[in-house]
Amino acid sequence: MQAPSAKSQNKKRILSGVKPTGKAHIGNYLGAMKNHVAMQDEFESYIFIADLHSLTSVKNKKELQQLIIDLALDYLALGINPDKTVFFRQSDIPEHAELTWILNCVTPMSMLELAHAYKDSKARGDKEINAGLFDYPVLMAADILAYEADLVPVGKDQKQHVEIARDIAGKFNRIYGEVFTIPEPYIPEEVAVIPGTDGQKMSKSYGNAIEIFAPDKELKKQVMGIVTDSTPLEQPKNPDEDLVFKFYSYLSTAEEKKSLAEKYRAGGFGYGDAKKLLLEKLMDELKPYREEREKLKQNTGYVTDVLKKGADKAKLIASATKAEVWEKVGLNI
Ligand code: ATP
Ligand code: MG
Repeated sequence: MQAPSAKSQNKKRILSGVKPTGKAHIGNYLGAMKNHVAMQDEFESYIFIADLHSLTSVKNKKELQQLIIDLALDYLALGINPDKTVFFRQSDIPEHAELTWILNCVTPMSMLELAHAYKDSKARGDKEINAGLFDYPVLMAADILAYEADLVPVGKDQKQHVEIARDIAGKFNRIYGEVFTIPEPYIPEEVAVIPGTDGQKMSKSYGNAIEIFAPDKELKKQVMGIVTDSTPLEQPKNPDEDLVFKFYSYLSTAEEKKSLAEKYRAGGFGYGDAKKLLLEKLMDELKPYREEREKLKQNTGYVTDVLKKGADKAKLIASATKAEVWEKVGLNI
């Protein structure tokens, strides 16, 4: 019989997650979630709701519970198939937190001081930075290493955290002997950083998102709120310097892009017109998922059931890794 953690001979294993910290947006979709769905046929796939990570910022019980269900609905509506992907909730698997402690004990503080999430919070002058935020990369390393993931499909903002996971895995392996697979980030360049409506990275926490499942009116408001320059309608415009054009490009064929670029350069075409085209494009792309989510929403029992079954499968792998780690460090007497 194969050991529970034995990996498929011919498929690489991927693992990734999204934090239930707010409404999922097209940065999450293009940079991560769409890939997760696309990759589930070719890879042995583990996707989880990173609810332990959310606790660094979400402090309201009811809100967190709703965000968890919402994100599970989002993923299922986008096409995560529980028969192909082990789809689960991080907090259902205590091994994530347990391994974090072991990994903490081989992680230099100086490495965590350089991590973006912590550095950015410090640079913003946030009054109280909790130890959870500081330790976020170690929990993320535990998430990845518990499942011996080969590839971690994420946006570019997470590249550094995957590199930290690699460093931690290497350090552990050097001290205790080979246990952990060294993971690789998987970041498609074209969608590595999707900007928000204000031009910064789109984030759930920055108020600059175009949400995948916002009601029609809200989605329109978000698209109409994309920041543009003040070139008057009649004047020619440079598509390469415009955010609306950028968003449109992510969703269009080369021909559609070329045709819109010509309109920009010809003049007599305003940003309002471009936003209308973008909204249509976005609706075309998202319509099937939005409809599917409406259906799924009627049956949250199905969603919790899927997550529970996913956790049962995830547990087999994470507990096998834990047993190996406990044995290596000397906790298995
Ligand atoms: P938060 O503001 O709470 O950090 P977020 O919007 O950054 O939320 P995360 O849950 O941190 O979302 O990230 C989920 C996944 O989406 C990660 O793989 C991350 O790299 C990716 N991602 C997030 N924002 C973007 C973006 N703007 N462009 C591309 N990928 C993104
Ligand atoms: Mg983030």
